[in-house]
Amino acid sequence: MKISLSLGWLVLAALASAAPPNIVFILSDDVGYGDLGCYGATKVKTPHLDRLAREGVRFTDAHATGSVCTPTRYAFMSGRYAWRQPGTGIAPGNATILIKPTTPTVPSVLTQAGYATGIVGKWHLGLGTTTPDFNQEITPGPRELGFAYSFIIPATGDRTPCVFVENGRVVGLDPADPIAVSYGVRIGTEPTGLERPDLLKIKADPNHSQTIVNGISRVGYMTGGTKARWVDEDIADTLTQRAVAFLEKQKAGRPFFLYLATHDIHEPMVPHPRFRGTSECGWRGDVIHQLDWTVGEVLATLERLGLAKDTLVVFSSDNGGAIKNTYDDGTNALHARQPPNGVLRGTKGTLYEGGHRVPFIARWPGHIPAGKESAALLGLIDLLPAFATIAGQKLPAGAGPDAVDVSAALLNPAAMGRTSLVLQSNGQQPLALRVGPWKLVGRPNGAAELYDLSTDLSETKNLAATEPARVKELTTLLAAERDKDFH
Ligand code: CA
Repeated sequence: MKISLSLGWLVLAALASAAPPNIVFILSDDVGYGDLGCYGATKVKTPHLDRLAREGVRFTDAHATGSVCTPTRYAFMSGRYAWRQPGTGIAPGNATILIKPTTPTVPSVLTQAGYATGIVGKWHLGLGTTTPDFNQEITPGPRELGFAYSFIIPATGDRTPCVFVENGRVVGLDPADPIAVSYGVRIGTEPTGLERPDLLKIKADPNHSQTIVNGISRVGYMTGGTKARWVDEDIADTLTQRAVAFLEKQKAGRPFFLYLATHDIHEPMVPHPRFRGTSECGWRGDVIHQLDWTVGEVLATLERLGLAKDTLVVFSSDNGGAIKNTYDDGTNALHARQPPNGVLRGTKGTLYEGGHRVPFIARWPGHIPAGKESAALLGLIDLLPAFATIAGQKLPAGAGPDAVDVSAALLNPAAMGRTSLVLQSNGQQPLALRVGPWKLVGRPNGAAELYDLSTDLSETKNLAATEPARVKELTTLLAAERDKDFH
């Protein structure tokens, strides 16, 4: 971890008089920079998130680090860039664990600090050291990485197995109806989306046309576990209820850390009937309303329990908004009404800003000023040292090797964040590098692109040809970053 902030002592001074706060980190999925009212959206309504922003700081230059799910979650948990470790791309539902249980993580460090820790929601970082057997206790998993309580979606909503796993066990599993999961090889006799499109609620591309669960075809096959399978329309309710229950169980005098990783608004976007038709952007907008409702329930619970003023709430997204080519629910045609990534170029999976610049809101009443905006550069990868500092916990040696302690920026909207940040596409390569306002977008088999985000946030003018010296400088810096070897 690098200490690059001269304001660090101010953070320590500010924190010296305060008990460590509870921390609630809500990580939404695939929510773009233009998807929330407080970031300019008008065709969806996000009153709870807008309120969170009014009561805290809204960041304008925060990045998911990766531009798809698994790399961002890996980087958040470990403070290490996912591209340093092969095999950390979008994980299948039967992947083995991607982070070694000995690695210092956000929850393990906060456990050391005395926090009660829990995860509710999407995991997508693999389970077990061999292909997981979902009929047994599955280990290692979230617990071995530091979460005392876990209630997870193993991978994503569009992937098998379509079940929740609580503390290592599939919830509601009937031992007489064991689960089998397969990626690649067809198993069982249940219909697939390719065979029975007449059974589908929404059409899907061939990759998402394997086993049909709840009228939705998935990536991957599964058999068994019939009673344990989720109903997509109820996932937000289930996760919200578990998050609220976690908060209600906390004991006075011991701080807690809740990582609430929502399914919303990842595909398949299947809103509960009470949210259908409530937005002007089809089901995609309706699941944004559903996400906002979840945030509202968490905030209301903190208030009801008298915990709001003692709790740091951080909200963000794991990558930018997607233009769907997987499930066809008709909402791509509505993006013109309200672009998911606002003025940004690119989408989920790309190295342009629309792939990785995300909403980021932080609220801690009395410690973070209300209603401010921060232009500090930061990444979700930085939350490991930032949360550790705020919790008053020293990091173990070697923890978060790529992370920068941005706690000063979290608490003070005038403070600087990082000076540079590496960004990852949908894969180990190519990478992009931010240094100040400059952004180098690498290309594996072509000339890199260069943008000045201070004058061209939409990345419309490639300056590589007119700024060859800067391209060379940033290319060298990116290569040096890539060649660091942390083991
Ligand atoms: Ca995602």
